[in-house]
Amino acid sequence: MKDVIIIGAGIAGLSAGFELYKNNIDFQILEPANRAGGSIKTVKIGDYLVESGPSTFNSLSKEIMELVKDLDIEDLLQAANPQAKKRYIYRNGQLMPVPSTLKEFIKTDILSREGKMMLLEELFIKKENKEETVQDFTERRFGREILKNFIQPYLNGIFAGDVQKLSANAVFPKLKGLETKYRSIIGGMFLSPKVRSSFKGLTLYSFIHGMETLSDKIYNKLKNKIILDAKDIEISRAKDFYIVNFKSNNKIINYTANSILFALPAHTMSEFAYLFPKSYASEITQIEYAPIATVVQATEKSTVEACCSISLEGFGFLCTKEPYRKLLGTVWTSSVFPNRAPSDKILLTSYVGGALNKKITDQSEEEIANLTAKEVSESMQISNPGLLETIYVKVHTNAIPQYNLGHMSRVKKIEELMDKNYGLFFTGNYLYGISINDTIKTSKLIVERIKKFLDITIKKQENDQVKLL
Ligand SMILES: Cc1cc2nc3c(=O)[nH]c(=O)nc-3n(C[C@H](O)[C@H](O)[C@H](O)COP(=O)(O)OP(=O)(O)OC[C@H]3O[C@@H](n4cnc5c(N)ncnc54)[C@H](O)[C@@H]3O)c2cc1C
Repeated sequence: MKDVIIIGAGIAGLSAGFELYKNNIDFQILEPANRAGGSIKTVKIGDYLVESGPSTFNSLSKEIMELVKDLDIEDLLQAANPQAKKRYIYRNGQLMPVPSTLKEFIKTDILSREGKMMLLEELFIKKENKEETVQDFTERRFGREILKNFIQPYLNGIFAGDVQKLSANAVFPKLKGLETKYRSIIGGMFLSPKVRSSFKGLTLYSFIHGMETLSDKIYNKLKNKIILDAKDIEISRAKDFYIVNFKSNNKIINYTANSILFALPAHTMSEFAYLFPKSYASEITQIEYAPIATVVQATEKSTVEACCSISLEGFGFLCTKEPYRKLLGTVWTSSVFPNRAPSDKILLTSYVGGALNKKITDQSEEEIANLTAKEVSESMQISNPGLLETIYVKVHTNAIPQYNLGHMSRVKKIEELMDKNYGLFFTGNYLYGISINDTIKTSKLIVERIKKFLDITIKKQENDQVKLL
């Protein structure tokens, strides 16, 4: 009997496995795909190194840094070019630098004078305790301009979401916390040493050979505990344990286990919903997902230098919402990590679609590449979209879970289900944060719950055995 069977070998399942391994708990991971890593995927195409999913994490990523140390791969870390700190917003037909100092903020054209004044007025706005959308929260505290010109583009880069639906409490828990504690968020930022220090010296990281290094190294460590290509996974409940059947190389295999950890995207959980009461099943399976297409394109450095009025020494740009545009933002990949392209080329990674452009999934890869080239060249003043060569397109149909209004109570229900001691546990990016780091952190928290459950179960099994004797 296994202690835990983990279903899914994305970073949630892999990092949970690694944590169980460190705690000497017996487990098995089952993954239907022929590779581990889930959304984390790095592809070498000719002279280019391309990220299909996540491309960076920052220096505040404590859980990733701990894993890097445990896996002994510190020498493979790659810090972003320090000049890549500069970021841009695409608005009204042009790229505008995001201000990073007070002086730049006073001078920026991204906000009107009235928009800037709203930030001062924020100090005097009363606090609100109820759950509200990002739109209501931002407009109430900072005004419409901040919402349109900063918050919507910023959330394009993280959730690819809809500010009219996303829950401010779930998406901005720290800002909501400052409001509760200090009444004013701006005042709270100045008063809270923790918040001030979190803005200092933030560095972006990847690995020299791309993000897949992280998942690959965990996979290699746990290789004999992971079965890839595990098809037709079926789980049934016996008296106080689980029976898991699946096909591997056309053979049916079965395991018994004290507990199951689902490390799957929430929308796929409907397959296993028969295992838990209906009211809980809907909380998990109804979490909305937004689609994103990753489009990687390259061009000659000289082309960009001739057309583009700004230097590409920066991270890239995020877009404000404009009718008919589908581009969420573009990372200037070769500026951030120069080893990703030959020195005479520019490599651009763009993201299109999102919760407000769900129909992107109806379009062919060629159509998506063309619309991206058009919008990227418009944004960067490249005279002809044909100058962008498409290297890679990947449509992630269910890319990012949306923390919409009600998210916190949905998560509470999922926690309640785990507390019922059925031996069913859940991890993934749909719970407490969507970044890789938050996903790893979530898996660590859930492993703590599993440990408590196993303590109870094993004690019970020992007592039952004593009774039999
Ligand atoms: C385009 C994109 C860009 C991103 N950029 C960043 C970034 O720069 N930085 C960052 O920190 N985060 C980023 N993220 C978010 C981050 O990549 C994810 O949140 C994280 O990788 C999710 O890990 P996961 O294990 O929860 O899910 P997944 O990676 O989706 O893994 C789920 C696993 O479950 C398996 N599975 C699916 N269905 C079933 C089933 N029915 N039965 C069994 N197994 C199944 C899958 O094959 C997969 O292996 C990005 C995400 C995307 C999509």
